[in-house]
Amino acid sequence: MMLKFRGIDFDVVEASDHVGGRCATHSFVGVGPDCAHDYYDMGAMRIPKIGSMKSTLNLIKSPSLLNIPDSLVEYVYTVYTVDCQGNPTYYEPFCYWYQNKDSPECVSPNCSKMLSKMCSRSSSPRYKSTSTRDRTTTPPGIFSCFLPPASFNRALTETLSDYADFVQTDQKGWFRVEGGMSFVTDTMAARLKSTIWPQAGATSIDVSLSTPAVAMSLASDGRTIQVTTGGEKSSTNSYDMVFNTTALGPLQQMDLSGLNLDRDILDGIRALSYDRATKVAINFNKRWWTGFYPNADAMHRGGGVSSSDFPLGFTVYPSWDNGDGTNVLIASCAWAQDASRMAALVPDYTDPSTPTPSYAGPIAAVCLEGLVKLWAGRQEAPTLKDLHDYYITHYAWAWSHDLCTCGTFALFGPGRFQNIYPNAHYAWISGALDSVLFSVIKFLAARSTESPDVATKALKLLASDSNPDKKHFEKNERGEHPEGDERLAYWCAEASAMK
Ligand SMILES: Cc1cc2nc3c(=O)[nH]c(=O)nc-3n(C[C@H](O)[C@H](O)[C@H](O)COP(=O)(O)OP(=O)(O)OC[C@H]3O[C@@H](n4cnc5c(N)ncnc54)[C@H](O)[C@@H]3O)c2cc1C
Repeated sequence: MMLKFRGIDFDVVEASDHVGGRCATHSFVGVGPDCAHDYYDMGAMRIPKIGSMKSTLNLIKSPSLLNIPDSLVEYVYTVYTVDCQGNPTYYEPFCYWYQNKDSPECVSPNCSKMLSKMCSRSSSPRYKSTSTRDRTTTPPGIFSCFLPPASFNRALTETLSDYADFVQTDQKGWFRVEGGMSFVTDTMAARLKSTIWPQAGATSIDVSLSTPAVAMSLASDGRTIQVTTGGEKSSTNSYDMVFNTTALGPLQQMDLSGLNLDRDILDGIRALSYDRATKVAINFNKRWWTGFYPNADAMHRGGGVSSSDFPLGFTVYPSWDNGDGTNVLIASCAWAQDASRMAALVPDYTDPSTPTPSYAGPIAAVCLEGLVKLWAGRQEAPTLKDLHDYYITHYAWAWSHDLCTCGTFALFGPGRFQNIYPNAHYAWISGALDSVLFSVIKFLAARSTESPDVATKALKLLASDSNPDKKHFEKNERGEHPEGDERLAYWCAEASAMK
C-alpha cells in the first residue's frame, strides 16, 4: 500500500492461493445452520488497545488507509471480578492436574510483582542472555502455570515482553475484528486492486496468487535483483528492490545463493527458531458454556479464556452472543510443545481420503474429552454425550505444518541476535507493520539522490514529537526534497507506533 501511495510500480507475488498469511480466518459457512459468527481466527485474533499497537489500529481506522473503523469491536479477554485486596477471581474454569482447581498460588500476586520488577529492567543485557528456565527456580514453579513446556528455553526478555504487553492490556482492553482478521488483509488487497485508492486513476495492482518466489539472485549488472517464481506462472523478473515479507522458514527454502549474502545473514535465517501454535475450533449447535458468566450483561458480551494443563491448552470463548443457535468455540489454542503434540493429530484436509470431520476424529475427541474434564464439577457441566449431541463440525490448523510460514513467529533464545534485537512486538501484527514501515523509509532514502537524509529525519521524528524537523513532514506538503517524498515519510511515521 505504501508503494502504491507513492506511485511506485511493483508486483506482489504470494505463494498460497489467498492473501493474509498469519491473519487467517476459517469460515464454517455452508456447514450446519447459518449464523452471524460462523468463523474463527486461526492466526492473529485480537489487538491490544495499547500504544505499541498503534500501527495496526491506524491501518484499520484511518480514513486514508483501510477506513473500516466499525470492524474494530470489543474482544473480552477474561471474565473476572476483583476482591477487596485487588486480586482477580476468574469465572472461567481453570484446571491443573485433573483436580479442576485454580493455578498454583505462586502465580499471583507474587508472580506479577516479580515479573513487573523484571520488566522494568528488561533491557539489561543480563536478561537478554538469560533463559526463562534460568529464572524458574525462585519461587518454585512460578512460570510453569502460564508457559507451555518448551517455552522455558526462550530468552527471558521474550517472556517479559509478552508479559508486559498483556499487563498493559489488562488496563486498556482489546479489540477483535468483526468478520475475522482476514477482513483486514482482504481489504488491503482490495485497496491495491482499487483504481480510486489512494486517488482516482490509480493503477490497479493484482496480487499474483499461487506464485511462490523460489529463487533470488543479483543480476549480472550487480544492480537489479532477479526473482524467479514457481507454480504455473513460473517466470523470472528483474527488480530494483525486493521486499521479502515471508517468515524465515519459507525464506530459507528459496535459493538465495545468487544474492551473495554474508555467512552471518544466512546463519541467522537458518538459526532463528519459530514458535508453534495449533488452534482447533468446534462448531456447536448450542452455546453450552454460558454458565460461567456472572450476569446477563457478561453473557451478552461473551469472551473469556480457560486455561489448563490438558492437551488442549487454552480454550477461548467467543466475544459475541450468537443466541442459542450455532456457536463456534476455540476449544484448543495450544502453544510450543503442546502445539506440536496437537499438530500430530491434525489431518491433511486437502487429501480427499481424509475422513469428514466428526466428534470421533482424533483431535476432536481429545478436545471434547478435555472440555468435559475442564468443566467437571461446574454448574451445567456438559457430559461427553452432551457435547457429542451439540457437535456440528470442527477444523484444526497447525502453523508448524503451514508450508508458507513453517511456524508462528520468531522466538529468540537467550543471547541469540542480541545485537540486532528487533522491536519487541514482532509477535504482533504491529511488529510486522513497523518493520515494513522502517524498510520503506530506508528504501526511499536510498533511492533519493537529493535527500539522503530523509530516513534520518524520519527517525528523528519518530523519536520525538517536539522535534523541529516535524514541520517538514506536514500532511499534504511535499517537503523540500522532491525525490525523498517526505509526505510518505510523514505517513509512515504517523502510522508507526514508535512516534
Ligand atoms: C497463532 C497465531 C496467533 C497470533 N495472534 C496474534 C494476535 O492475536 N494479534 C496480533 O497482532 N498478532 C498475532 N499474531 C502475529 C501476526 O499474525 C503476525 O505477526 C503477522 O500476521 C505477520 O505478518 P507478515 O506479513 O509479516 O507475515 P505473514 O502473515 O506470514 O505473511 C507472509 C506471506 O508470505 C507468503 N509467502 C511465504 N512464502 C512465500 C514465497 N516463497 N513466495 C511468495 N510468498 C510467500 C505467505 O503465504 C504469507 O501470505 C499471531 C500469529 C499466529 C501464528
